[in-house]
Amino acid sequence: MLRDSFGRVATDLRVSLTDKCNLRCTYCMPPEGLDWLPSAQLLTADEIVRLVGVGVERLGITEVRYTGGEPLLRRELVDIVARTAALEPRPQISLTTNGIGLARLAGTLADAGLDRVNVSLDTLDAATFKRLAHRDRHADVIAGLAAADRAGLRPVKINAVLMRGVNEHEAVPLLRRSLEQGYELRFIEQMPLDAQHGWSREAMVTADEILGLLSEAFDLTPDDQEERGSAPAERFLVDGGPARVGVIGSVTRPFCGACDRVRLTADGQVRNCLFATEESDLKTALRAGATDEELAARWQAAVARKRAGHGIDDPSFLQPSRPMSAIGG
Ligand code: SAM
Repeated sequence: MLRDSFGRVATDLRVSLTDKCNLRCTYCMPPEGLDWLPSAQLLTADEIVRLVGVGVERLGITEVRYTGGEPLLRRELVDIVARTAALEPRPQISLTTNGIGLARLAGTLADAGLDRVNVSLDTLDAATFKRLAHRDRHADVIAGLAAADRAGLRPVKINAVLMRGVNEHEAVPLLRRSLEQGYELRFIEQMPLDAQHGWSREAMVTADEILGLLSEAFDLTPDDQEERGSAPAERFLVDGGPARVGVIGSVTRPFCGACDRVRLTADGQVRNCLFATEESDLKTALRAGATDEELAARWQAAVARKRAGHGIDDPSFLQPSRPMSAIGG
């Protein structure tokens, strides 16, 4: 098991397949992009499947989420998903994606064993999308969402980040549209994980504000807390349910005490927290011939060192040097 010194057990593995992305969302990276990892440093598909296998077969990982960067840019994605689905015991497999290319790939991914998707969509307006993501791809995302639904990758979840003066007025329309389409919407507080280090507490639209905006149009009742378990989203029944909306208050309502996540970067580093400033290098050990047992032991040691909380509110908080795109959100 992947147990830390506070007794938390990591069972949910987020694997970044690439640090590259075809969007440039302002809260994530600058318009000119970043210096991408050299391809020799990226884990190969075989290496990814081997490490995920160690996690699933030896360390109690039950959920595998492929992310990035943009995971649909990884050419071997379908193969990686199929080989993950063949692991014993078979983990739940999901994808966090911006949806571009999903219209073409959703059916193939579902056939390969993908169970569900989280698609990021911050606006219903194509012009705002272009302003926010520096690419004119809104229609592709909408088409990707519909294709995921048709392919049965349900529940289709939408991740939305609200930014003051940009799209905060879309909280209600985004929820209304999600309810109409049968998608489960979750709002995520903007976190200090952008490559430009431009985050500020004042500019962040907080969970309280999001709930205030939604409450003007909907009746929200907190969902069963027991059911929340380790889920990052606080969920609310909308107008009595059964539809729900989630709010992920990573900054103002941290849920570190129930965290069950561990991350593997595209270059083979274990991160025990999104905000960790230390990583543990599995790639070098793997390439030097480490056995599965040795890899598992390194991974366990990395999780054992997990801190009690992300510490954003501590005066000594330091933003991690890797931005979100290179960690795997
Ligand atoms: N490219 C994929 C996508 O768009 O979903 C996967 C990677 S992306 C880093 C994963 C999620 O992180 C997206 O929902 C994105 O909106 C969110 N994200 C990125 N930077 C963020 C930040 N600074 N604060 C909060 N969420 C962020």
